[in-house]
Amino acid sequence: MFFHSTRGKDKNKTFEEVLIQGLADDGGLFMPDYWPEVDLSYIRKQESFLDIAKYIIPLFTKSSFSENEVEEILNNTWHDFDIKDLINIKPINKSIKILELFHGPTAAFKDFGLQLAAAFFNKSLNKQNKTAIVFGATSGDTGSAAIDACKKFDSIKSFILIPDGNMSEIQRKQMTTVKKSNVFPILADGTFDDCQDIVKKGFQERSFLRNNQNLLAVNSINWVRIMGQICYYFYASLKINKLSKPLNFSIPTGNFGNVFSCYAASKMGLPLSKIIVGVNENNILDRFFKSNNYSRSKVIETISPSMDISVASNFERLIYDFYLEGDSKRCSEIYLSFPNTPITIDKDMWEKTRKLFLSYSVDDINTYKCMKSFNAEYNYIIDPHTAVAVESVMQFEGSLDYETVILSTAHPAKFPKTMNKADLNISNIPSSLSSLIDKEEVAIKLSTSDNSIFEYIKQNN
Ligand SMILES: *Cc1c(COP(=O)(O)O)cnc(C)c1O
Repeated sequence: MFFHSTRGKDKNKTFEEVLIQGLADDGGLFMPDYWPEVDLSYIRKQESFLDIAKYIIPLFTKSSFSENEVEEILNNTWHDFDIKDLINIKPINKSIKILELFHGPTAAFKDFGLQLAAAFFNKSLNKQNKTAIVFGATSGDTGSAAIDACKKFDSIKSFILIPDGNMSEIQRKQMTTVKKSNVFPILADGTFDDCQDIVKKGFQERSFLRNNQNLLAVNSINWVRIMGQICYYFYASLKINKLSKPLNFSIPTGNFGNVFSCYAASKMGLPLSKIIVGVNENNILDRFFKSNNYSRSKVIETISPSMDISVASNFERLIYDFYLEGDSKRCSEIYLSFPNTPITIDKDMWEKTRKLFLSYSVDDINTYKCMKSFNAEYNYIIDPHTAVAVESVMQFEGSLDYETVILSTAHPAKFPKTMNKADLNISNIPSSLSSLIDKEEVAIKLSTSDNSIFEYIKQNN
């Protein structure tokens, strides 16, 4: 299995090259050369999430790692979860179940993708006798999951930019209280977009790297994160109906990584009915799915900060695979003139949307309302991101066939202020979060308007 770019120029890449490179040289996103077919009867015989991962992951990694190597990596990949099988499925009513993906050490679903990324990074670095810098920006949960996943590997130093933004105090503390010699949280005086610009610049310049050192991207376009997420769609389907009937999945979305993982699973054979794409007021995806208009607008700060984006970076993969059916020339044209020219797909192509996708945008007021009413009705507290997915499902109730699985992407205790405002009291705060309250924060403050961030990395490298 090799990989190629959605924009056509970068191709015949091994898994390891894709892992280390992150983004393709032509600016596109990496795709597998074909969708590997999953033997559903084999999955039906499996029990755990890990069993499924051991079948799915090697479908993508053969170009770089032997089966034995992958097996060994996976045995040690997902760690510090607070329940044995990593995921809990909570039945809500006859037609709805919640997939709790927040039982990892940072209490958000990003642990699934980033622990896998870190494990493969480390293996690759060790094989090549190299070290690496992880350099990224975070608007919420990516930074903490990346730091947590990488901190145990001496071959990796993590430099994470934390913007002036509205991430919760807990989210910030998850990064600033780690106190390990290979972890460097940076409080940057700029917006998330400013931080992303610096990261982009860093990936072009690479001036702070030493010889024989890799620069690694942990943002959601890295294919390895998608792989980790594909596994839990098969797991959900196995546990709910032994993959015997299609399911709907309602997914709270920002960069479209989690939705694309669901789409990928369906291309590999997962029985799927509809994907419900739930967004907050940053509604670029909803505008596309409803009216074929993918146009960038300013980021609005919401109570679901991990979904506050102006463009959904993984969406290029869907445009390429689903709408353009692999036409990399057209994909390249479209994206080279975006965001100046909004994306509109030929009408007959765009009509395919309704076969698979429903979408909805939820504002903060209705997110609050949903958290409250869900607790009142089902005695179950959801976080604001999950509430976006719940509220979206409510719009389509009655018109959906089959059961619906709502992805719960974060533990509500990550957002205490929002919970307070909603008058919701969480009784079971994970110890990984409650222990943060009294810890001392250590982070350097740096400017995004000069070279100080690159200088800082160089000094500490
Ligand atoms: C990152 C994140 C999302 C959005 O995931 P994407 O894959 O970027 O769409 C949703 N909820 C939470 C809690 C997150 O951390």
